[in-house]
Amino acid sequence: MSAFARIAGSLLALAALSCAPSVQQEVQIGNDYAAQIAREMPLISDGAATSLFTQAVSPLRRVAQRQDLAWDFHIVNSDQVNAFAVPGGHVYVFRGLIARAQHYDQFAGAVMHEIGHVDLRHSAEQMGQANAANIGVSLAYILLGRQPGQVDQAVVGVAGGAVFAKFSRDDEREADSMAVLGLTRASIDPSGITSMLQILQRLEQTEPGKVEQWFASHPMAAERVTNVQRIIGETPGATAMTRNGRSDLSAYDQLRQRLAALPPAPKEVKQP
Ligand SMILES: [Zn+2]
Repeated sequence: MSAFARIAGSLLALAALSCAPSVQQEVQIGNDYAAQIAREMPLISDGAATSLFTQAVSPLRRVAQRQDLAWDFHIVNSDQVNAFAVPGGHVYVFRGLIARAQHYDQFAGAVMHEIGHVDLRHSAEQMGQANAANIGVSLAYILLGRQPGQVDQAVVGVAGGAVFAKFSRDDEREADSMAVLGLTRASIDPSGITSMLQILQRLEQTEPGKVEQWFASHPMAAERVTNVQRIIGETPGATAMTRNGRSDLSAYDQLRQRLAALPPAPKEVKQP
């Protein structure tokens, strides 16, 4: 390799660290994360459950802005009430969220919000801002189910912070706007977003251990309820959809029944 090629390579590496990656890089990094998640997190592989889950998410996938991405959706076999998305279009919904979201519009609100983060490249942008001080911590937290120690961080490795980044107030508001827009286009009641947020707020009081991961990556639940109500009022067609939109879906009801019939989720690792 020539000196020029070496220097160019270093500059490109620096540029990749200092600004948002290209779509190609975003997809590549996202695929790497998805492979790591498949190795390290328990994902539901039951055929009936994944088939019903696919039916439940396909109306949402159809209204994603970025149709160029090869979206895929997974159920994490955990009682945590949480959902997250990895750059490039890999979306993860925790079994505990499906158990708590009795109505399809609540589930759809949470999933559409995560699709919104990917559509807006929020995690991809944060990858460019990631630095040695914060990378790795959040992914470790999700994988371990607790705040990691020094050794844990070394084991889990680098760059997880970009995946489970703590989103800013603006990011949350934008993802909620995308969710209202998406559910309206999919003819689903957008007030499912607010009722899902209210479920999470109630759980924070009654079972805080079940929602700590969600609140770690999605701050400001209380003001989001007010924000989402305002966004619904401002989005053309959204208010009508709170009356005429779909709130339930038989495939989703069947998915909940199927998951309830499966063996319980593995116990989380807890710090002694
Ligand atoms: Zn969010």
